[in-house]
Amino acid sequence: MHEMGIVYHVADEVEKIAAQNDIRHIGSVTLQIGEVTGVIFDYMSDLWGWVSDKSSLLKGSRLLYEQIPAVTLCKSCGQRYGTVQGGRQCPHCGSWDTVLVQGNEYIIKQIEADS
Ligand SMILES: [Zn+2]
Repeated sequence: MHEMGIVYHVADEVEKIAAQNDIRHIGSVTLQIGEVTGVIFDYMSDLWGWVSDKSSLLKGSRLLYEQIPAVTLCKSCGQRYGTVQGGRQCPHCGSWDTVLVQGNEYIIKQIEADS
């Protein structure tokens, strides 16, 4: 389960950041999630509720998200295009020599503390 691993990883990271910054309670955590990660955010949000409930730091906090659009670079003509619209084949020159440059990652963008 992809989502479960991410939720545990995010919770660990937030615990570390909170300890370093003397934060006692988290209000919300904002993630940026790539368009082609395949992550189902609603499912992740449910898991967050379950995981955060076991932590005094995270209890009652909200998990928010923003999407990072997926972008592919064509190595033949050097143009970039939307991965979801264009797929693996470059819509500009028809080449298959393309590489995903963003959209398959997730980032903890923001952590909001409440006191
Ligand atoms: Zn091209």
